[in-house]
Order: sequence, then C-alpha cells, then structure tokens
Amino acid sequence: MAIIVQKYGGTSVGTIDRIKNVAKRIIEQKEKGNDIVVVVSAMGKTTDNLINMANEISDNPSKRELDMLLSTGEQISTSLLSMSLQAYGYQSVSLTGFQAGIKTEGIHTKNKITDIDIKKIKEYLSKGIIVVVAGFQGVNEKGDITTLGRGGSDTSAVALSAKLNCTCEIYTDVDGIYSVDPRLFPNAKKLDAISYQEMMEMSSLGAGVMETRAVEIGCKYNIPIYVASSSKNIKGTYIKEYDKTMEEKMITGLTVSDDILMVTINNVYYTSKNIARIFEKIAEYNVNVDMISQTAPFEGYVNVSFTVPRSDICSIDEIMNELKKEMKEIEVSKDENISKLSVVGIGMMNQSGVAAKVFKLFADNDIEFKQVTTSEISISYTIDSNDKQMAVTILAQELNL
Ligand code: ADP
Ligand code: ASP
Ligand code: MG
Repeated sequence: MAIIVQKYGGTSVGTIDRIKNVAKRIIEQKEKGNDIVVVVSAMGKTTDNLINMANEISDNPSKRELDMLLSTGEQISTSLLSMSLQAYGYQSVSLTGFQAGIKTEGIHTKNKITDIDIKKIKEYLSKGIIVVVAGFQGVNEKGDITTLGRGGSDTSAVALSAKLNCTCEIYTDVDGIYSVDPRLFPNAKKLDAISYQEMMEMSSLGAGVMETRAVEIGCKYNIPIYVASSSKNIKGTYIKEYDKTMEEKMITGLTVSDDILMVTINNVYYTSKNIARIFEKIAEYNVNVDMISQTAPFEGYVNVSFTVPRSDICSIDEIMNELKKEMKEIEVSKDENISKLSVVGIGMMNQSGVAAKVFKLFADNDIEFKQVTTSEISISYTIDSNDKQMAVTILAQELNL
C-alpha cells in the first residue's frame, strides 16, 4: 500500500463546508487503497488573528508564548478535520506536531525541523487509521512548543514525506504554480513542472505559493512535490529535479516582494573603514541586508543605499541612532514604498541578454529602477511600488510569461 502525504492550506480548510470537502477528497484516496497522512494549516486567517491579539497585549510579546499561541490554530483545524473523517465513517486521529514526533531547533517562531520520529504515525497507518497532523509546529529539545515560520505547514508536509519516503501533495487555493502570481497577472501561464532550484529561488524572492524551506527539503531528499487545487480536479504542477525539457525557456517566472525597506545613508565620509562599519553594525543586529548600492565619491562623501526585510524596521532605527553617534554628519532616510521584482530562470545560466532586455523594457516605459542584483538564475530590481503593477504587466507580456 502506498503512503501519500497531502497538505491542505488555510483557505482550503477555512470553513466547515471546506473541511467537509477536504475530508471527502481524502476519503477518495483512502478508498483507492492508500495510507494517508494529512497535514493542515490553521483555518483561514486564524494565524493572523492570533498575532493581532498578541500585539494588542504587548508590542514585543515573548516569542515562546507566541509559539504556544500560534500552534493552537492548527489544533482547531486538525481536530475538526479528523471529526469530519470520523463522521463519514472512517477511522482517523489528529496529532499535534509534538505527538507526531516533529522535533525542531532554533529561535522561537523560526524553528527548523531536525528530525521526525515516525513510529507513532506508522503504527496508526498500519491499523488503517488516517493520520491528521498539525502543520507549522513541533517541539524543541526543552519540550517547548515551536513554530516553523509563516507558511511552515508546507515544510511539515515535505519533511514528513521525506521521512516516510513518499510523494507530497500540496493542495491550495490556486491550481498549480504559475509563471507569475495570478493575482498580479491573471493571464499568467501554469507550469506543468518546475525545477527545485527555480522554485526555491522564486519562493525566496517572494512567490508565497510554496515555503522556501519546504522546497529545499524536497530537493535535498529528492521528494517530488505536486501542487494543485484543493477544490477542482485539474492537473497541477510538479516541483522536481531539473530535466532537459525545462531548459527551453530563459525565464521561468517573475516574482514580486513588497516586504522590503530601502535605507539610504547620505553624507558618509568615504573610507572603506566607514562603509565596513555600517554593515558590521547591521550584522550585529542580525539584520539581513539584501541589495546594496553606493554613489561615486563626491568631495570625499558617498551615499549608501541598501534593502532589508520590512519586519526589521525597529532594529534599523536603533542601528542608525548608534551609527549617528559615531558618524555625526550622516543623514538617514527610509523608503517603504519599494517593491522588488525578480525574473527567475535556469536558462539564464547559459544564455545572456535577460538583464539588457528588462532594462530596455523599463526604459521604454519610463520605469525607474533603484537597484539591481543578480544570482546565477535570477535578476532582481527594486522599483517604486507605484510602478509595480505596470512593471509586472509589461514584463509578463513582453517576456511571454
Ligand atoms: P495556502 O494557504 O494553501 O498555503 P498560500 O496563500 O500560502 O496558500 O499560497 C497560495 C497563493 O500563492 C495563491 O493564492 C497565489 O495568489 C499565490 N502565489 C504567489 N505566487 C504564485 C505563483 N507563482 N503561482 C501560483 N500562486 C502564486
Ligand atoms: N498557519 C500558518 C501561517 O499562517 C502556517 C501555514 O499556513 O502554513 O503561516
Ligand atoms: Mg502557504
């Protein structure tokens, strides 16, 4: 008998009717003779609502307590789904991350799975019981409940598939992976397959459809991930090892991230020591710098700009206050009205001209970009957020995405 891991996201279990619908889909697979492990996210916007409640109590709630709170969302959906399966006459059991043997380490709210003790899950499966596991959570070495970062149920599902050595099916509110988020470009093309490497790059650059770490685990253990609709029976997209048929395209996808903040420090007295000092200070606060640019020295001074995750805005304020004590003449400004657009494609490794093509499209349409960075398979541009929609539409149309 084959084991299948199926994961259902928040929207897909957002109402009682949807939970019942998910139960019916699981039963269809069970009836085909499969052993089923289901991973679920919290219903609808539950996790957001829990975070808002915590923020009403405190500006800086304890991360341990946050994990305790956030993990409750998935307990509601798993127990309701298990009850629904039972109501249809099937044996099932809901398990928290801890009960499912999911061990984690790291800092609270951003834990990583280190191992899964699948003994209990296997025992239930051997008795024909459908196992419903709470996604997004585990337990650390101290016995505290932990969570895996937003969107982390994908990671729970792929990690379970890796441990159970079976394929992973991710069911969501979109019917596959598209070249561009269909919410931003409704004419985007659905991909039959995409390589782990490209999906990882797209996820890390802002494509929220799959959590980056989940794809990383899929890649490491060579677990095919099938992404499809939780409500319609149409063919989805496989995330799998790169193969030659995927090579024809130079650009596979376009992603957008609004979650960035651009910081500009004007009037930096130009010595390499001063520039190093700025980035040393940022590193001390564990803030991840993404794009960096610097003007040419003018009368001994330069302006330095860089982008960081928007969630680090408080740390940036503290860092800049400290730097101002050391470099009295600097002036700092922050721009939150910034978006990052990235084009991604494995074909870029052996073909040139993508950057030039995008520069030309921006120039022809009066879109100014502020910074550019490249990796082996992607090029990213920061632009004014007001130009975002126009830029997405033009790039998607002209690059045939
Ligand atoms: P779930 O709650 O099921 O985990 P998510 O909201 O995390 O669902 O992910 C699904 C959403 O991802 C879709 O509604 C879609 O708007 C968005 N998305 C972003 N980029 C893409 C893409 N390239 N292809 C498909 N969906 C995308
Ligand atoms: N419920 C969690 C979140 O909203 C985990 C997930 O949906 O995957 O981030
Ligand atoms: Mg998700």
